[in-house]
Amino acid sequence: MDRVMSGDRPTGPLHLGHYFGTLHNRVLLQRDGAELTVLIADYQVLTDRDAARDLPGHVEGLVLDYLAAGIDPSTTIVAHSALPALNQLLLPFLSLVSVSELERNPTVKDEIAQSRRAVNGVMFTYPAHQAADILFGKSTLVPVGQDQLPHLELTRTIARRFNDRYAPVFPVPEALLSAAPLLLGTDGTKMSKSRGNAIAIGASPDETARLIRGAKTDAERHITYRPDTRPEVSSLVLLAALCLDRDPESVAADVGSGGAAALKNVVVDAVNAYFAPIRARRASYAADRGFVRGILRAGAQRAGAVAEATLAEVRTAMGMAY
Ligand code: ATP
Ligand code: MG
Repeated sequence: MDRVMSGDRPTGPLHLGHYFGTLHNRVLLQRDGAELTVLIADYQVLTDRDAARDLPGHVEGLVLDYLAAGIDPSTTIVAHSALPALNQLLLPFLSLVSVSELERNPTVKDEIAQSRRAVNGVMFTYPAHQAADILFGKSTLVPVGQDQLPHLELTRTIARRFNDRYAPVFPVPEALLSAAPLLLGTDGTKMSKSRGNAIAIGASPDETARLIRGAKTDAERHITYRPDTRPEVSSLVLLAALCLDRDPESVAADVGSGGAAALKNVVVDAVNAYFAPIRARRASYAADRGFVRGILRAGAQRAGAVAEATLAEVRTAMGMAY
């Protein structure tokens, strides 16, 4: 059975891109019996901003989103800053990658372009840090969105190089993409917490309707599902299809000449119906912040022991166990 790891930055509430990109897969894998760890990547908030604002609020918000989506409350959910042994893995891992490999990463390049600020060392090296996030628990499967594939490739490289150079400590993990590996936001670019283009899982039905009705579409009236040539319309069609458990072609065909306004009505109704029980669960968990904090404490304890054990193996393999 797979050991599954996946995580998110505590930069804001999780959105529909997270849900259909990775979160739902985490829930399904866990229901199938996989051992799931969810990592809250708090140091990685500092990749594209000087200070991490309202971390406790964002971290608790993520836990609420996880529980609302159906992640079991007994899951190991932990912030990587709470795991010193995980962070120490970054040092040997950095020694296994070249600067040009870090420079070539297309997702990092894109994020640097988006953030329009000087590139700090954490931004430049965070894919290697993410390798530590994945490998500290010897994960074998990582449900992610498309932007994470270059990072997963680097993680696989690091695992292989460590195993070749020292001793076979790490599995070489696989990425798991969903049917919506790159859901677009209301402006037609990747839906992201930081880009002001997201629909939060916990948004109200009215807010959801307002955001979807304002989403970018195109000038063609007839609705079709053609992700390559009509990305904005197709992303909306896909969103409705996922919520309705239908195929996107048939959703598009049903709307047809109704145009973008009719499509948006279908999407609003589908999203609000699908997320109604999830939003209700979120509200009930939100009433018990002590429960949320307890989950994080227990997660830090369990994951801390795992990270210590892996670091001990790494140090032994490297001849550093004095
Ligand atoms: P930020 O803008 O702060 O970077 P984000 O929205 O990109 O936030 P992350 O925390 O960076 O979210 O990503 C967490 C996980 O969700 C990753 O596996 C990522 O691939 C996935 N993900 C994020 N946005 C989308 C999206 N629009 N479609 C599919 N998957 C996504
Ligand atoms: Mg991101």
